[in-house]
Amino acid sequence: MHILSSSGSTPCQVDDFNIHVENFLELLKEGIHSIESKQSSGPRFKVENFFYEELIDSYHFPLDGASDKETMADLSQIIEGSIRPQSNNAVYNMVPQPLPETQAAASLMLLYNVNSIMDTYGGKSLLFEQLIARFIGKLVGWDKAFGTSCSGGKVTLLYAIKSAISRICPTYINQGVTQDLVILTSEGAHYSIEHVCEFLGLGRQSVVRIPISSSNGLSNSDLTDAFLTQIKNGKRVAAIIACGGTTLDFVCDNTETIFSTVEEIVKNHHLDYTPYLHLDSVIGWLWFSLIHDAQDFFDRFETPQKVIGKLKQVTDKFSSIHRFDSLGVDFHKNALCPYSSSFFITNEAQFPKQKSHLAYGDLVAFTHTIENSRSAAGIASAWAALNSLGLNGLRNYLCQLLESAQKLKECFDEQENIAVLNHSSCGWEVIFNFKSSHDLVDIYSANGLHEGFYQFITSKVQKGQDIPSISIITNFRRHYGSELGHGFIYYNMRTKLNSDECETIIGEILKLIVEYENEVRMGYFLIENVSFIDPIK
Ligand SMILES: *Cc1c(COP(=O)(O)O)cnc(C)c1O
Repeated sequence: MHILSSSGSTPCQVDDFNIHVENFLELLKEGIHSIESKQSSGPRFKVENFFYEELIDSYHFPLDGASDKETMADLSQIIEGSIRPQSNNAVYNMVPQPLPETQAAASLMLLYNVNSIMDTYGGKSLLFEQLIARFIGKLVGWDKAFGTSCSGGKVTLLYAIKSAISRICPTYINQGVTQDLVILTSEGAHYSIEHVCEFLGLGRQSVVRIPISSSNGLSNSDLTDAFLTQIKNGKRVAAIIACGGTTLDFVCDNTETIFSTVEEIVKNHHLDYTPYLHLDSVIGWLWFSLIHDAQDFFDRFETPQKVIGKLKQVTDKFSSIHRFDSLGVDFHKNALCPYSSSFFITNEAQFPKQKSHLAYGDLVAFTHTIENSRSAAGIASAWAALNSLGLNGLRNYLCQLLESAQKLKECFDEQENIAVLNHSSCGWEVIFNFKSSHDLVDIYSANGLHEGFYQFITSKVQKGQDIPSISIITNFRRHYGSELGHGFIYYNMRTKLNSDECETIIGEILKLIVEYENEVRMGYFLIENVSFIDPIK
């Protein structure tokens, strides 16, 4: 046997894989033990502040290597400061505690070191990838959907815009991108679109953001105006990236509005191209599960009317999704999968065309993926989620999250000093604000007090305290021209919250507000020192 390090780690030999597996499981347990012994509660692992350059500069890997156990013990520091989704108080963003089977599935792909670059290396992972894509495709009426597993929603946007450029400008493949292309999207769409366009050589300025006045997204007239302005400027609209639900306020375009507006412009202006239509449904895809046969499901599971109303508002907007070219799915956001498990799904099969019947062994991914080596973990976990939840499991998960939100909002609203700001949202996030005490408002601004509260909460959470990791959205709905001031976000990911649990949650928040205001009064917490950065949502 090879002795790699003086501390005795050895590479695995073929015939001692059983020993390897035992070792692997042992080390996993060791790692879990080290991490869990740090902390057993709180929405974030405790972390001390540090300066990057200082730590990086003084760090040394052990010259002779360390034992595997020491390695696991030292590695456990990596978790410090991260979100603990297993905590009920982890309400910072859409970060669920994944199902054990999805985590086991991803871990197995690591254990067996599967590379989804092509059939030869990937086992049947490329087949499983297409099983997932076809399932999602069928939900929206795409019979021959084709999917690409990738490392995040941002990469689904990259694939979408790349597909759009290839369609409108086929010479792009060899000669690069022309200067006359623009991408239309709304003010509410994800902030990464500009960055994606930068990567693709279109440049950030190719993104034209169209204002919206509500979470219902783009209007026919605003989209038309924006499109015609681009035509007048000699530009071609390569793609429209429609919102299919966002983290906050669930901004969702109407697919029929987008499709028919575009169709009309193409016809009336005799355009020799049709813009590529992508739905950024990395969150909203879960609603696809209720496009068909929803009523049977609602009847069988006695879904509350209010929840049904919210669900229908969304599924109605997806009525023309079958006319879109592609969509995105983030299984790590709302399908109980670990990071990262995203799919870019197109509405027609894009199997390599050389052969009429692709047989096992023929399929390659690297000809169309941004990665060459490609982990199978995302595919395995997405498959495990779909297999263990089933369609009704997905539907139930969605309904139960919305039911929790409904209960929470009602409970928040019963409080005198608290107001829910996002009753109209179709998502399950709860956004609220509170009235600060008069004596403090006389000294500090309302926004200043709210920013201070966010900072107050954040520093407690960072110290490992077990309180809700509430975050802030500055000037909520400013995109729509509203002036609601700052809102606090309680991003609940617990299903089936009952009234008692809601009472406990609000009680804790009220207690924190009182504590905060007292500390401000006593001068223990200084609003003047609050340095404020908008959290990324
Ligand atoms: C989260 C999100 C993205 C980015 O997805 P990642 O998985 O973080 O890369 C894109 N669009 C929307 C609407 C999102 O919510």
